[in-house]
Amino acid sequence: MAKKAKVRFEEMLPHEIAAARAKMPVAYLPLGGMEWHGRHNCVGLDAVKAQAMCCHFAEAAGGVVFPPLYYGDEREKHNMEAYDGAGIIAGDYGLSKRNFAPGHMRGSPYEENTVHEALMIIHILHEIVSYGFEVIAIGAGHYPLLPTARAACQLFYKDRGQIAWAYCGFELVRDTIPNSGDHAGPWETSLMMYLRPDLVDLEKAEGPEGMPGLHEKVRAEASAEYGAKILGLMTEKVTEVNARLLAAIRNPEETMFDVPVKSICRGARAIAKLREEEGQ
Ligand SMILES: [Zn+2]
Repeated sequence: MAKKAKVRFEEMLPHEIAAARAKMPVAYLPLGGMEWHGRHNCVGLDAVKAQAMCCHFAEAAGGVVFPPLYYGDEREKHNMEAYDGAGIIAGDYGLSKRNFAPGHMRGSPYEENTVHEALMIIHILHEIVSYGFEVIAIGAGHYPLLPTARAACQLFYKDRGQIAWAYCGFELVRDTIPNSGDHAGPWETSLMMYLRPDLVDLEKAEGPEGMPGLHEKVRAEASAEYGAKILGLMTEKVTEVNARLLAAIRNPEETMFDVPVKSICRGARAIAKLREEEGQ
């Protein structure tokens, strides 16, 4: 059996990086965190999923995948553990709900707002372009990180004139699957069943649960086949955006952000406006 080409940056030898970049100068950066994802999924799902998706995209169309970021998301907001008033989720960990009570992060600057995480992402983007990559695609496995990632992309462009863009994945395929995306439901669980079946235990999909109806829905609708199907759709979209951005960089006459995906254009419009202001 032919050996799969390596795509994980941290595992590659220098000459392998040079060869991969010469073929496709696209880098992926997966983002996630730690969060309860039902009793049937691993708690690092968002970053694990984002990384596995990026590896799938890179194996399909070239590019390399940088190590994922598991830390820096707001823990006292936008996180299931923080909305666990009844202590059900804390109970699943064998803990008291006091562990996730307001203030448990002791005023960490990352809790104040998303500026710190955006700055960390910008730091990583500078690091990635120092290795010569021309387009960086950020995969936000934890959905609340998407606006932060987009803001980082815009500031990065303004500072350096280089292109990074961000996606969650589900929003790219809303034209075909209007109800795409969920938290620990059939969407995320199916992706995991296809990409990392070793980290899913459907036997554990049972109540009482932190999200009403979650486990019934997962048992009825999640499958590796569905995971493969939605991953295929997302691969097409992500590959298309990367190709268009690379083409635009190579040929400045072309409309730089003529990308037929609304959610990307929102960030792209802001970048285009910055370019205009700078008279580029
Ligand atoms: Zn998730």
